Amino acid sequence: MLRKRLFAALAAVAMLVGLQVTTAGPAAAAPRILYYDASQAQEFVSVVNQGAQIWNSRVTNVQLQPVPAGRTPNIRVYADNGWPRTYSTSLGNGRWYMGREAVNQGYYTPRIAAHEFGHILGLPDRRTGLCTDLMSGSSAPVSCRNPNPNTTEANTVNNNFRSAAVAASIPAREFVWVG
Ligand SMILES: [Zn+2]
Repeated sequence: MLRKRLFAALAAVAMLVGLQVTTAGPAAAAPRILYYDASQAQEFVSVVNQGAQIWNSRVTNVQLQPVPAGRTPNIRVYADNGWPRTYSTSLGNGRWYMGREAVNQGYYTPRIAAHEFGHILGLPDRRTGLCTDLMSGSSAPVSCRNPNPNTTEANTVNNNFRSAAVAASIPAREFVWVG
């Protein structure tokens, strides 16, 4: 009886493994690399790098890398005294600002950086008020210390970079931290 059950469990595992191999097969393309230039982000350079690393650890179809010398970046990051904001020109391209208006109010800087990168990666603001949502932005409490996208947000970004057709369907847009 015990042996029979063990066999059934092993068979189920084998089936699951087989299924995963089948579905993973055709989608194993190289990730799209986006280069960002944080050289004008002033005191926020390391926090910009942190925001990029957060995304790199959670998505597979796109990766954010510091721009090598002599190459045009996809993304430029600046700092000023306004609100954090993003001007995306197309999926994966544009510029964003690490605005001190929000930093001075106490918003968590790695969360701001990951959030603004999220806009470049095709995510709109969703002001749910929830700290568990990265794209809730300023609608979450100032005390929110979560810099990570949730599973839905990460899946959406992976989907955005799955095909050229999906990428082309995402329009140029502007987003401001406080809306
Ligand atoms: Zn936003």
